[in-house]
Amino acid sequence: MIRAMVWLTVGLEAILVARTLLLTALLPPLARALTRCASGPTCTDGAQEGPSRRPSGHDIALSLGSSWVFAAGGAVVIQADALGYTRLIHGAAPWWMAPLGFGAVLLLQDGVFYGVHRLLHHRHLYRWLHRGHHHSRHPTSWTTFAFDPGEAVLQSGFLVGVVFLIPLQPATLLALLLTMSAWAVLNHLDALAPQGQSPLRWLGRGLIGPAHHGLHHRRPGHNFGLYFTVWDKLCGTEAPPG
Ligand SMILES: [Zn+2]
Repeated sequence: MIRAMVWLTVGLEAILVARTLLLTALLPPLARALTRCASGPTCTDGAQEGPSRRPSGHDIALSLGSSWVFAAGGAVVIQADALGYTRLIHGAAPWWMAPLGFGAVLLLQDGVFYGVHRLLHHRHLYRWLHRGHHHSRHPTSWTTFAFDPGEAVLQSGFLVGVVFLIPLQPATLLALLLTMSAWAVLNHLDALAPQGQSPLRWLGRGLIGPAHHGLHHRRPGHNFGLYFTVWDKLCGTEAPPG
């Protein structure tokens, strides 16, 4: 059992590192290309693109360290599922289970993240749990998964808890993990959002992108949201652009 957990953790760590390398390599140029195409008919003008920034060694080290926590969480899920303790659905299910489960988990995570994120900025918690993520005033894609160990446990604990609470098909869970990872990387492409103008505004004003989250890294008392701006608007923590 313990041996299997160790090997599962090692295998998942390799997958998570590959995911991070792929997303940090592919998403920034893809987002820039989409931004240019969204800003004009020629796909060559109008992009509010800032200078490319080098990832800090601090963010890379913290990312690689925290991925071990997520890998261990994944190993717990796989073992618990093999013993029948999770609510993962392995048989046939109605088609609407997939979009319903997908939307429910994103909305749940959005609300939970907002509350936990505000708590992490409390002066008694910040230095222990969240300071590492704010090391870079101008985040890069490598800042995305740069978590102090305690924050990594909290973040992975949510994902582990979901499979014990919400019925999901494995394909839906995989789609959620990919969406969460890609969206999180997009939110940290600060070089795409100079002067607070969102080059990804085609996503919609209610969705969070690099301009919104980049402001949080420069003005940490604002913009705590993850996917949707609704919680920041409701709680009065949304910063005006700029
Ligand atoms: Zn923060």
